[in-house]
Amino acid sequence: HDTTYRVTCRAAGDTGCVIVCFDDVTALEQASQMRRDFVANVSHELRTPLTALMGFIETLQGPARDDTTAQTRFLGIMQSEAARMNRLVGDLLSLSRVESDQRVRPTTQISLLDVLSSTVHALQPVAQKAKVTLVFDPPDHIPTMIADADQLRQVFTNLIENAIKYGGEDNTVQVTLAAADRDPALRAAGVRVDVTDHGPGIDPAHLPRLTERFYRIDNHRSREMGGTGLGLAIVKHIIHRHRGRMRVTSELGQGATFSVILPLVP
Ligand code: ADP
Repeated sequence: HDTTYRVTCRAAGDTGCVIVCFDDVTALEQASQMRRDFVANVSHELRTPLTALMGFIETLQGPARDDTTAQTRFLGIMQSEAARMNRLVGDLLSLSRVESDQRVRPTTQISLLDVLSSTVHALQPVAQKAKVTLVFDPPDHIPTMIADADQLRQVFTNLIENAIKYGGEDNTVQVTLAAADRDPALRAAGVRVDVTDHGPGIDPAHLPRLTERFYRIDNHRSREMGGTGLGLAIVKHIIHRHRGRMRVTSELGQGATFSVILPLVP
């Protein structure tokens, strides 16, 4: 059931018998199905803004040729559609880069405290614009660790941006950093970062699929918020490269906490 076999027959030497082989190629078949789905998704995601752009160009060349009010409005929409395509291509490049980095262990000594402080600082204007309070209480001392600072910055940017986007207005997003020496997810000493929002939360049924490429709980809302559907897939690969774990705890109406647990030495 749900298993794919490749069946091959060949002669067994001069014995006059035949060898029939049943190879279980389920994993291979699933991988190629995933690749096909991915290409179909990317094409769809790119085609949607492209179709809109082509439609507006046609209107600007025809019916709206002399209507300056319509021109200003349409150019604004075209700009945001082009920006969406640009974000999608940027995220696709990031995803492909982190996927091909998987086998290369990070080697640089970094301060996670510095990475997190600068990330929170850079996102304060985004939070203000969304009427969200972004809080980070830095701990007194956190040991340095071996990691890729740019990639971890991307992890926390994606998680904090999601908390701001999906948490809704008048929300508070809390970021905490602590030592996680005895976390069951790790064999050695590590650190743990929690990003918590008090928004509508996530139905537990969605949790196992959140890090799949292009998986969104509410397609329309995600697109409206400028999401590409690739943010958590990128996060998953970066954490995996650092031999860490991500845990999501949430209930509908109770907000969500995304926890990243990283070893000090991957
Ligand atoms: P997107 O670009 O759509 O935000 P992500 O991969 O970052 O894609 O997230 C996948 C989906 O997970 C989102 O579309 C959203 O439905 C859900 N999600 C992520 N973070 C949160 C959060 N803090 N609260 C509620 N839903 C979230």
